[in-house]
Amino acid sequence: MIDTKAKRQFLKIVGPENYDDSSAGRLVYSYDATPQFQSMPDAVISPRNKEEISAIVKVCNEYKIPIVPRGSGTNLCAGTCPTEGGVVLLFKHLNKILEIDEENLTITVQPGVITQEVTNAVEAKGLFYPPDPGSMKISTIGGNINENSGGLRGLKYGVTRDYVMGLEVVLANGEIIKTGGKLAKDVAGYDLTRLFVGSEGTLGIITEAILKLIPMPETKETILALYQDLDSAAKSVSKIIASKIIPITLEFLDQPTLEAVEAFAKIGLPTDAKAVLLIEQDGPAEIVKRDIERIIKICKEENAVSVKSAESEEEAESLRTARRAALSALARMKPTTILEDATVPRSEIANMVKAIGEIAQKYDLNICTFGHAGDGNLHPTCLTDVRNTDEIERVEKAFEEIFEKAIELGGTITGEHGVGVMKAPYLEMKLGAAGIAAMQAIKTGLDPNNIMNPGKMFAKDSRKRVVVSK
Ligand SMILES: Cc1cc2nc3c(=O)[nH]c(=O)nc-3n(C[C@H](O)[C@H](O)[C@H](O)COP(=O)(O)OP(=O)(O)OC[C@H]3O[C@@H](n4cnc5c(N)ncnc54)[C@H](O)[C@@H]3O)c2cc1C
Repeated sequence: MIDTKAKRQFLKIVGPENYDDSSAGRLVYSYDATPQFQSMPDAVISPRNKEEISAIVKVCNEYKIPIVPRGSGTNLCAGTCPTEGGVVLLFKHLNKILEIDEENLTITVQPGVITQEVTNAVEAKGLFYPPDPGSMKISTIGGNINENSGGLRGLKYGVTRDYVMGLEVVLANGEIIKTGGKLAKDVAGYDLTRLFVGSEGTLGIITEAILKLIPMPETKETILALYQDLDSAAKSVSKIIASKIIPITLEFLDQPTLEAVEAFAKIGLPTDAKAVLLIEQDGPAEIVKRDIERIIKICKEENAVSVKSAESEEEAESLRTARRAALSALARMKPTTILEDATVPRSEIANMVKAIGEIAQKYDLNICTFGHAGDGNLHPTCLTDVRNTDEIERVEKAFEEIFEKAIELGGTITGEHGVGVMKAPYLEMKLGAAGIAAMQAIKTGLDPNNIMNPGKMFAKDSRKRVVVSK
């Protein structure tokens, strides 16, 4: 419950039209895209500018009210589930592109701008913003920055972190700071920009971001390689990279995912293949041609049963769209879809895919796997039913083993989806107790009253206390 004095102050700051503590209003923001998590906030507030955000944060700090900043709620780690109540902060009024600077190659945006809108706006000027999470049609830039989201183009172009040059942040005490800027070089003090990227709303509220743009690549080619076994597909991935080609996209889908995607997208994907690689290269025409020829040769050497080039940009786009639809397609099949984010060095992809299959069999579960093979970032996805408690228990055990295996292979528990509540119990597996303590020192320093998205990132109980991180 929000203290009546605090509520009065909130209403004064944003007006009654931007403050909602009705049951229906709160219910909408009691969950996000993560299955199995729901918790009611006490109020939902939609500030109109950074000054209002700063004033809200000051009230929250005084009354120790939790704040859950929320973009579109598409995160998959329960990062916007208000597990400790408090206020959910929406950015629907902060949804503008403020500037595209063609001399400095930057775009300045408010946090509520949809990722796809950034892409469209810069492409209209012949520029390129590479981060393209599968959710880009609905996710916000604020959410992307706070999860440090990756995407299909991450292998060659990196993730959101690589494109955030400067931020404006409201701290937990209500102070507004600016980090970085339009500068290619800047070593004045700690790199606070990087600290806030991926901080999952636990350190401050991002109210503005300067993002880096690059020139639009000249051409792009797309191919689809089909395999009758997973191992050959995984080996092709390692061999392509080892031959010093970095494709823009190197995505992997196993057969069950392929079947679900085809049933959903109906674009004529070959559902009898055991594994598929979607591979793309961009750049100057002659280099793309040379790389694609070499990639096709490698795929064939590694027993691809067919390698097909997209005939047109429309066909290429429908393949990309189909891949982006993988989660939605799988989600149609069972009441509950639990998608994970285990990531390994790309040389270990074959071992990881094999291990996921064995673990699924051991616990008698239906786990499909797809993901960004070129980054070693796999999405083992369990199709289950939350009402089947016996099966859910096995799902938890299976994912714990999958994370252990990822760490054993030199990987991590999350490559792009973040920690939130979902992955918090496993964080110590990756960082060790000293690593967690260092992160907690930063958190306490910036947010001594623990009002910024509390209950996320740091678990009350660790699932594993051993440190096996390489
Ligand atoms: C179908 C589907 C496909 C997906 N594909 C990908 C993918 O390919 N790659 C990938 O990385 N992720 C993917 N995701 C996960 C998710 O879309 C991303 O994490 C995305 O960046 C979340 O954006 P959002 O606007 O929904 O943020 P939210 O889910 O609302 O919030 C995410 C986090 O950011 C914080 N936050 C939001 N705005 C602010 C702000 N202004 N200041 C401070 N904190 C803030 C929240 O508190 C929360 O911790 C996918 C999800 C779905 C459902």
